[in-house]
Amino acid sequence: MSALMAAVEQGREAERKTLPGPILLLGAPGVGKGTQAKELVKLWGIPQISTGDLLRANVADGTTLGRTAKEIIGRGELVPDVLVNEMVAARLLEPDAVRGYILDGFPRTLVQACWLDARLAAQVGALPVVAVSIQVNYNQLLRRITGRRICPVCQSIYNIYVNPTKKEGFCDVEGAELIQRDDDTEEVFKERMRAYAALTSPVVEHYRDQGRFAEVDGDRPIEVIAAEIVAAVERLRLQG
Ligand code: AMP
Repeated sequence: MSALMAAVEQGREAERKTLPGPILLLGAPGVGKGTQAKELVKLWGIPQISTGDLLRANVADGTTLGRTAKEIIGRGELVPDVLVNEMVAARLLEPDAVRGYILDGFPRTLVQACWLDARLAAQVGALPVVAVSIQVNYNQLLRRITGRRICPVCQSIYNIYVNPTKKEGFCDVEGAELIQRDDDTEEVFKERMRAYAALTSPVVEHYRDQGRFAEVDGDRPIEVIAAEIVAAVERLRLQG
């Protein structure tokens, strides 16, 4: 290889290492994956791809997928892998995902993880995933989930216990009446945690074993956690 070609190749390699690439945010329901994803979106300008949000949009639009998913989500169970993978595949093809993306709530099973790994392995030049698992204890999660309220207009997330609005029940930004997700009840939370322990915990171990994996304590201020995630992603990317 000529010196010029080697320099070009080196430049490309350096550029690749500065790209955020695919980032996975892992963790139980309520650990703050969505909140953290929004922080990373602001920083890197890559999209947040939340399978929960995509599924809820399908439910709202009454699509075939939405009609199948509605009851499953309501019970706190997982939507079949093949349907979720297909939905993610379509989303990853959109142009905004070229430099990278933050997957929030996916993969949630080993089948989904292996599907994603194989997809990236088959893609020339694709960076491998960097996975960050956010940890919060069970009682905290229960409070976060049952106290969570969402603005239907701007999607701001509040919590009646730890992050209440100025006027109870109404969004500080939009003034709209806040809503509670149907699956944010204690009963459904318990089922979601059961699904997490049985099906998603092995996904965390899968990525821990692969390396390019970090764990962060999610029981701290949002900006402190975000800074730690950013540092971890940058360190793991440089590591190659
Ligand atoms: P979330 O908003 O991430 O808490 O997801 C809400 C619900 O959507 C979950 O309880 C599941 O029923 C469904 N869901 C979201 N992501 C997935 C996924 N990757 N695989 C299967 N079901 C999912």
